[in-house]
Amino acid sequence: MNTLLELKGVTVSFDGFLALNDLNLKLTSGELRAVIGPNGAGKTTFLDVITGKVKPSKGEVLFRGKSLIGKPEHHIVRLGIGRKFQTPRVIENLSCRRNLELAVAKGSSPLKLLFTNLPNKQRDRVQQLLLQVGLASHDQQLAGGLSHGQKQWLEIAMLVAQDPDLLLVDEPVAGLSDEETAHTAALLKDLSGSHTVLVIEHDMDFIRDLQAPVTVLHEGHVLCEGSMEEVQADSRVIDVYLGREDVNP
Ligand code: ADP
Ligand code: MG
Repeated sequence: MNTLLELKGVTVSFDGFLALNDLNLKLTSGELRAVIGPNGAGKTTFLDVITGKVKPSKGEVLFRGKSLIGKPEHHIVRLGIGRKFQTPRVIENLSCRRNLELAVAKGSSPLKLLFTNLPNKQRDRVQQLLLQVGLASHDQQLAGGLSHGQKQWLEIAMLVAQDPDLLLVDEPVAGLSDEETAHTAALLKDLSGSHTVLVIEHDMDFIRDLQAPVTVLHEGHVLCEGSMEEVQADSRVIDVYLGREDVNP
């Protein structure tokens, strides 16, 4: 099995406070992984370290065996790591299709693209992405008029358009309906295999739907790893979440 990403002993200190504390984690190429943990566990900081936004004070982050430490964020994106933030960043006054065309043709002038058609190959790619995320029948709709869930899927499609090997997805189902949440789980499952997908989420029904290995973070450290059933039965996990409402074991 090919290791795509490895974090070894990663520690992040914010003025002495350890947001990550000796974090170790490995992702295999093509896997889907869920990361959960109570608020403040270090989940977002963990993504910030991978994408180069935050520099660890100790430890190593290896992507395809090469260190990412010290590399600027845009460089890390080019190496094949795409990140979806919680709030969608689609262009609201352009159609779904146009948003995707801009993502597929990245590098061309956006102004030129507004007045010309894409080459066939890129048009096919846009169509395939629209179908993959379930937005083909909404292609002419302005992105601003999409539901919150549809915007999330459009943004996932825009990210996939850039062919990242590793997709980092931070809380994709916050505020989504049950139906949209189920669709998002199916979509991320579908993307894994051809991509490595790491998802951070609080919604336990969604995590269950993913049927993926779960890593539990607590105080900047991996508390345990296993299937959803295994981590839910782990007494350390129960202790950490005890009395919290963001999980229902
Ligand atoms: P999570 O995403 O799991 O809720 P975060 O990674 O956002 O957790 O934060 C982990 C801890 O680090 C929290 O206690 C948070 O207050 C702290 N933290 C995060 N970013 C900073 C920062 N830039 N400066 C100081 N403390 C921070
Ligand atoms: Mg967070």
